[in-house]
Amino acid sequence: MRINLCGTRGSTPAPGRDFVRYGGHTSCLAVTADGAAGPELLLDAGTGIRQVTGLLAGGPFRGTIALTHLHWDHVQGLPFFAAGDRDDARVSLLLPEPVEGTGAEAALERGFSPPNFPITPRQLRGDWTIAGLEPGEIRRGQLTLLARQIPHRGGRTFGYRVSDGRRSFAYLPDHCPTDLGSGPGGLGAYHEAALELAAGADILMHDSFWYAEDFDPARTFGHAAAEYAIGLAETAGAKRVLLLHHRPDRTDAELEKKAATLGDSQVPVTLAADGEVICL
Ligand SMILES: [Zn+2]
Ligand SMILES: [Zn+2]
Repeated sequence: MRINLCGTRGSTPAPGRDFVRYGGHTSCLAVTADGAAGPELLLDAGTGIRQVTGLLAGGPFRGTIALTHLHWDHVQGLPFFAAGDRDDARVSLLLPEPVEGTGAEAALERGFSPPNFPITPRQLRGDWTIAGLEPGEIRRGQLTLLARQIPHRGGRTFGYRVSDGRRSFAYLPDHCPTDLGSGPGGLGAYHEAALELAAGADILMHDSFWYAEDFDPARTFGHAAAEYAIGLAETAGAKRVLLLHHRPDRTDAELEKKAATLGDSQVPVTLAADGEVICL
């Protein structure tokens, strides 16, 4: 499968000359199964989803968008996704079933309707279905999507694992493992859901909002440290780590300085950049 990293920044877009090499679009990945013409599975719909239109060679998006949760940086691109907002688009939008019992569409519409935004999700053109997802496994064409609930702050949040039967990757962009205990290194517990998602994965793509040197367990804002992700990969047998959901004020120079210190890890570690393409 092919994975296009369309948005790898956390919290808010980060434009400007200090953010050119890693990019400033918020969370979105596009997954293309072997033999498919274009991506049919998107994870998250931050501003990076605008880049997906360019991957579809002028065609509409027909596939599934699975959101990890409803925070702005994971949904704000939805109404600007040109390939999904046209009459011939066919989109299945999945999000964690809200525990409040409001239903998925109403939960999304709370932030995506006047006066917060000029239109509602129903006013997107094309054939859209919006549904809540419970933890478990679903199949989309050649791809299997495993969802597990993971700790974050402010709304039910899932981590995902995508597999095509031969290769797999785990995606946990927003994760607060200290909510379940301090863990062996004080950076958070290696809990069951995180271990299951990452177990033996070819790549663990993980929240790296914090670094160990600036991590304060009393002030996480719902996020993890890069070094937790590396420890999780080592514990779960993931083959490599891709750090993403970069803090919006981390410049290219700061990200590269950090990357240079991570060479001693047991598993290879790289920092995700917008526009990067990974073939598994
Ligand atoms: Zn986020
Ligand atoms: Zn979040």
